[in-house]
Amino acid sequence: MSFLRIDAVSKSFGANTVVQKFDLSIRKGEFVSLLGPSGCGKTTVLRMVAGFETPSSGAIVIDGQDVTNLPPNRRRIGMVFQAYALFPNMSVFDNVAFGLKIAGMAKAEIGARVTEMLKLIGLGHLADRYPYQMSGGQQQRVALARALAPKPQVLLLDEPLSALDAKIRTSLREEIRQIQQQLGITTIFVTHDQEEALSISDRIVVMNGGRAEQVGTPFEIYNRPATRFVASFIGTLSLLEGEAMGDGQMDVAGQKIAVTDLRGAPGTPVTLALRPEALSLVPSAERANTLQGEIEAVQFLGSVVRMRVRMGANVLLLDAFNSPAAPPPLRGETVSLHFAPGDGQILDQPLAV
Ligand code: ATP
Repeated sequence: MSFLRIDAVSKSFGANTVVQKFDLSIRKGEFVSLLGPSGCGKTTVLRMVAGFETPSSGAIVIDGQDVTNLPPNRRRIGMVFQAYALFPNMSVFDNVAFGLKIAGMAKAEIGARVTEMLKLIGLGHLADRYPYQMSGGQQQRVALARALAPKPQVLLLDEPLSALDAKIRTSLREEIRQIQQQLGITTIFVTHDQEEALSISDRIVVMNGGRAEQVGTPFEIYNRPATRFVASFIGTLSLLEGEAMGDGQMDVAGQKIAVTDLRGAPGTPVTLALRPEALSLVPSAERANTLQGEIEAVQFLGSVVRMRVRMGANVLLLDAFNSPAAPPPLRGETVSLHFAPGDGQILDQPLAV
């Protein structure tokens, strides 16, 4: 059951179409991230859901109501922006109370609600402070409290963490997720940071050039990237180029490996995406599904050792756990790499018929 539906929405500014036939269904209480490079249209989608932009075509439906042409203040939406956007001349209390006053709530009720919200974000003791007296992280929590105070039915977060330093960013994203789950509020989160999206979301929409390239859980997006773009945008991986052999096997420069779900007639070019952690070093080529290659570089990263291994025109990255008992192999050594047939992902393969 979808609570929020974006239905074939497009948006053009003059001749420039920045969102193209964008579809998305979000369940009640779900946390969905829009992830993609700068300029891919994430913010424009969010602003159309908020009502700050009107779609050129398509519809936006929230809880069964078509809101496409409703102004922002009639959509029951709470929004948090990248820049804290608090009212600088108002105390924390007044900032959080702002939407409630506009809505005409009684004074006593406002007091109770603001107190409840400040408690939720752990800033009850700072109600009398002004924005300039607070850190960026605290200001952003106040912005969140202000957005949530009027009990919106949808929370929209536009890169709310990107102005903060790395440590605060990580702790605040956990806090946002925890509050979102506690309240069960349907949320759309815009970010260009893949780690942020992977760590916080129920589902991720990877956007490219105004379109949704893939929609899936973090697990699916990371492990089963549907396209070359998604594969290269999310995390680290290597691409192995070869040819289908017609029997679920792939030929990589004369070496034969099995790959789950490999279709394609013999001779068809195949690109296999492999994460560094999917590969392991094995003592020799005797195990099934191994490839031989030469170590080109070894990077000691602490808990993990990353190796770059060349096989003809292909270069594979491999992560091995550090073992105090066994120093990593050296540059120039020939090694055997193993991966399970189901651990790679074939890119841009036509769908099964
Ligand atoms: P970023 O991460 O940099 O914010 P984004 O993915 O959120 O990028 P949008 O802000 O949605 O991207 O912008 C998508 C495209 O639409 C960009 O090329 C942008 O220049 C253009 N655009 C956005 N708003 C307007 C506008 N009001 N008028 C004209 N062009 C616009």
